[in-house]
Amino acid sequence: MCGKCAITVNGLIRPAEMGITLPHEHLLIDFSCRYVAAADEGELSAQQPALADRWRLLRTPAGYKVNLEGTDLDQSAAEALWFKKSGGRTIVDLTGVGLGADASGLKEVADRSGVNVIAATGLYIDASLPDWVREASTEELAQHLVDDIMRGGREGIRRGAIGEIAIETATDLELKCLRAAARAQSRTSAPCFLHVMSGILPSFRPLTDELIAIYLEEGGEIDKLVLCHQDGSGDDLAYQERLLARGLWLEYDTFGSEGVFAFGEAYIQLPTDTQRIAELATLIERGHIGQLLISQDVCYQTGKRNWGGHGLAHILDSLAPRFRAAGIGQDRLTNLMVDNPARLLCFAAENASAG
Ligand SMILES: [Zn+2]
Repeated sequence: MCGKCAITVNGLIRPAEMGITLPHEHLLIDFSCRYVAAADEGELSAQQPALADRWRLLRTPAGYKVNLEGTDLDQSAAEALWFKKSGGRTIVDLTGVGLGADASGLKEVADRSGVNVIAATGLYIDASLPDWVREASTEELAQHLVDDIMRGGREGIRRGAIGEIAIETATDLELKCLRAAARAQSRTSAPCFLHVMSGILPSFRPLTDELIAIYLEEGGEIDKLVLCHQDGSGDDLAYQERLLARGLWLEYDTFGSEGVFAFGEAYIQLPTDTQRIAELATLIERGHIGQLLISQDVCYQTGKRNWGGHGLAHILDSLAPRFRAAGIGQDRLTNLMVDNPARLLCFAAENASAG
């Protein structure tokens, strides 16, 4: 037997072992690259703000350092356990360079919670990246990504995906990272998750085509390319279907976030879960279910359950009836949460050694 496997922090697993999978999360994250101090930051507790202050954090989530520090192992393992208790089995952590990547910490979370964790290797937005990434050539970056996947980098923990590769203002550095990611994809067959702004900001949609052209030019496989954060792009079905016709994946990955997203000094209103479900229902009705993914992208502390957030089990615990009401029943949810992630993430040959 020579099936393809997914690469978790504890080794290879077969597709049947993946179960319900969240393809876009951040179990451990240092999100301080988004920090722009809020005027009232000093009024909040530096550990865990009072419930009565939650409105401030929802208003300006990136304005408080304490809301951006998601690096606590106990908290992360507890979050993963909520997901497991609701039937979840596998979490893909897309926390790469620039977001406090911590493969050893993820292994600890996997061991403590019993959830399969797939750690990714990625390069986040320009402002988050350290000097060594700025100075590296495209080829050096590609080799770094490949090494993380094939050998596990410094920690000896193999990564099972590439991402997030973040492109916001498409600086030269971000485009260099995109080229490196496409090369690494072509050499490993790992899926490549692109963080783009085109879901919520229509003005970024023309850029998406340029990014895909660069990815293909470097040898990236189109059916391994995931466009992240496409929630809200259903206001332009022609845009969505133009992309889907090329064979890539559209990811609705911010379920549970119905407030604002920090974008530099600006805050952008996110769609509601009801809107997300309605957009997915339209895409499914039109035959695209095989190219859709869903997740929650919990990245602020306010998204976690011990801070009163929806947590990692939001879709499982709260949204199934709303999916059903929109015509997305259990079979289709299984397609979205089990079959699709397994098809995308199982790319490694079972008998390949890590050496
Ligand atoms: Zn992202």
